Amino acid sequence: MLKPVEKEEIIEDLSKIMEERGFTLSKLNDEAYIAKSGSLSMLIWLPNEDYLLIDDPVKFVERMGLNKVDSIMVVSYRAFYLADEVSKLIDTVRVWNGMYLNVKVYAVDIYRLGERLEETLNLALTTFSSKVSSINEPDGPCPQCGSQMLIKYRHSHRSLIYEKPVIEEILVCDKCMVKIHRVKVQ
Ligand SMILES: [Zn+2]
Repeated sequence: MLKPVEKEEIIEDLSKIMEERGFTLSKLNDEAYIAKSGSLSMLIWLPNEDYLLIDDPVKFVERMGLNKVDSIMVVSYRAFYLADEVSKLIDTVRVWNGMYLNVKVYAVDIYRLGERLEETLNLALTTFSSKVSSINEPDGPCPQCGSQMLIKYRHSHRSLIYEKPVIEEILVCDKCMVKIHRVKVQ
């Protein structure tokens, strides 16, 4: 379980990293935030407990607004276990309540938070590239079908993995949907 002081530090670090990556953060409740970029909406969940003890899955879905977001990022020392539990809960409400949630579940381990979060954001931005896309620039042939690749997303930030400023780009082939996430170290 996180100590309040530790939790405050994690939220501070997390907010800085998310803002550096172009997201705006707003508080949902005492253990969750909503991060937005373009039309991409992600729930960041910092569970107060290290386990998932839920007697009413539908209530959890409603409290966390899981039907209003594209993804949930579980930030915890037991992120992989909890992300697995959330995935099971999503299956449960589908089977028992006919509630179909189109939500990608990501696990972000608090150990080395910066790097883990950067990897998760790289993945989420690539998956949801159409929701964050603001450009449409041609850039070479698709490695799979040879059609024109298009740069759909570009963002400059300081990488915590490379410890240098980088330009991040997402290239998409509209014909066969191949996507490339590219990081240019400055
Ligand atoms: Zn292609």
